[in-house]
Amino acid sequence: MTTVPALTLNNGVQLPAIGLGVFQTPPEETTAAVEAALRAGYRHIDTAAAYGNEREVGEGIRRSGVPREEVFIETKVWISDYGYDATLHAFEKSAAKLGVDTIDLFILHQALPSRFDLTIDAYKALEQLLADGKVRAIGVSNFMPDHLEQLLAETTVVPAVNQIELHPFFQQKELQAVNDENGILTQAWSPIGGITHYRDSDKSALEDPTLLEIAEAHGKSAAQVMLRWGIQEGRSVIPKSTKATRIAENFDVFDFELTDEQIAAIDGLDTGVRGGPEPEVITLESFGRDIPEA
Ligand code: NDP
Repeated sequence: MTTVPALTLNNGVQLPAIGLGVFQTPPEETTAAVEAALRAGYRHIDTAAAYGNEREVGEGIRRSGVPREEVFIETKVWISDYGYDATLHAFEKSAAKLGVDTIDLFILHQALPSRFDLTIDAYKALEQLLADGKVRAIGVSNFMPDHLEQLLAETTVVPAVNQIELHPFFQQKELQAVNDENGILTQAWSPIGGITHYRDSDKSALEDPTLLEIAEAHGKSAAQVMLRWGIQEGRSVIPKSTKATRIAENFDVFDFELTDEQIAAIDGLDTGVRGGPEPEVITLESFGRDIPEA
């Protein structure tokens, strides 16, 4: 079975280059998806308190028979649990639902620009959890350069990752450069452009002619080409699927190499148009919701 190449985080912890995402994976399908991924060779699962399926992620890991210490578990604190004590408690909720004592990577799901004080307090709780050995690495998601700048000015531990929307149609190169300058690993969400086809199938990255041409040249799919592109550019990728065949397909990206020309062609597909919500407009009023106790 393929051993997944690892990326080294800024604190020395190793993160498998590809992981399974479970956003919008219904709880009743999550256990099977996680189990299928681990059987296919994945060793990293990306979930979130807000996805409502942490319990089933834990169940899938246990059912797979893969030892806990061989699986890298990443989850996210939702904005409604920001604040020092609330975020410490968010760890307890997530760990209990997952059925684990430690979480490998615990990240803030969003910045709260209008309540950055709460965002900072939440991050300070992550620093405490790291110091206590309850998490192996900490990070952020959907942080823009000014959010990172404020965070770095007011806290001590540089985030290990910034998980951001990143696929050929929306590449955020300036933000990637800021991540790089600070030793923060860029982790791509919607790495095969899921966000480009949830709503408007006419613009699906999976049907882009350039990607299809490159895919054909390698006897691969457009999804595999996008994942290979992300991995060759040094990013962590976390494709989501509920289907065992696609889960296996998305993992089968270690037996071919894109040429410099092909990489440049994919780099050229950037439209600069974001698919997900604008990070600046995230507020507790519009996006807040209760995260249940374990
Ligand atoms: P992806 O780019 O992973 O695409 C997922 C979509 O593509 C699903 O509709 C899936 O359908 C389909 N799909 C998967 N594999 C294939 C394939 N080989 N061929 C054709 N279609 C395929 O999008 P996501 O938005 O799910 O992003 C991945 C992960 O990133 C999430 O699951 C989550 O963990 C994380 N994420 C984080 C966010 C954040 O704010 N931090 C926001 C969004 C995502 P099907 O399941 O039916 O196969």
